[in-house]
Amino acid sequence: MIILMEGLLWLLRFFTGACVFSFLNVVIYRLPRGESVVRGRSHCPDCGRILTPRELIPCISYLLQGRRCLGCREKISGRYFWVETAGGLFFVCCGLFFGCGTSGLLSLRGLWAFAYLGILMIVALIDWDTRIIYDRFQAGILLLGLAALWLFPEHTLTDRLIGAVVVALPMLLLALLIEGAFGGGDIKLMASSGFLLGWKAVAAAMFLGLLTGGGYAICLMSRKKLERGAQMAFGPFLAVGLSAALFYGDTIADWYLSLLF
Ligand SMILES: [Zn+2]
Repeated sequence: MIILMEGLLWLLRFFTGACVFSFLNVVIYRLPRGESVVRGRSHCPDCGRILTPRELIPCISYLLQGRRCLGCREKISGRYFWVETAGGLFFVCCGLFFGCGTSGLLSLRGLWAFAYLGILMIVALIDWDTRIIYDRFQAGILLLGLAALWLFPEHTLTDRLIGAVVVALPMLLLALLIEGAFGGGDIKLMASSGFLLGWKAVAAAMFLGLLTGGGYAICLMSRKKLERGAQMAFGPFLAVGLSAALFYGDTIADWYLSLLF
């Protein structure tokens, strides 16, 4: 019985995360189009039909409808489903990693981490679509960084201030030397995230970002889909690195440093 209750609670946590990220899907779709994210009901992007409540259940509706709109039968982008699934998994991971707290759903540290992952998801996908990173999200990350001073006192202010420049400053210098090396949004993302994560984790995040972004670029070039010297959104790969570093950044950095010394 206790196992069943525990299982249901984890399912509830997954569903909560999926619901929040379902809303983030709306933000990611509407913000670059200049539409309001709170006004206007959810509609099919193909036929414009307002979606009914049974079409709005995160993860489940998409699968039950056979991945198609119930009105026009047009294919629904799988991205909505995967973003919702990621939200569910992130919520569960935050619970496992940062504790579920007395509320039963998520501790304060867990909520903080989940909020950061949510911002990273928005930044990554809007950058992927439009190559723009909005300043308001960097400001959000900075605010979370200030909250982290109190929530995670194990990372000192000095650690965070070094984190803000250790990756962002070399990026800025490279961008000044080589035109188009990094976008201003990427640099600000790493500065604000460095303050939030501390210097070790943000260095690990950069390493992971370069690894995944570089791997993807090589993949594209080998298939002749990316011309040499062409621009590619780097924000999504930085976001992948930062998301991983939120959980394992310090561990990765400590492991790397132990190899050196
Ligand atoms: Zn439709």
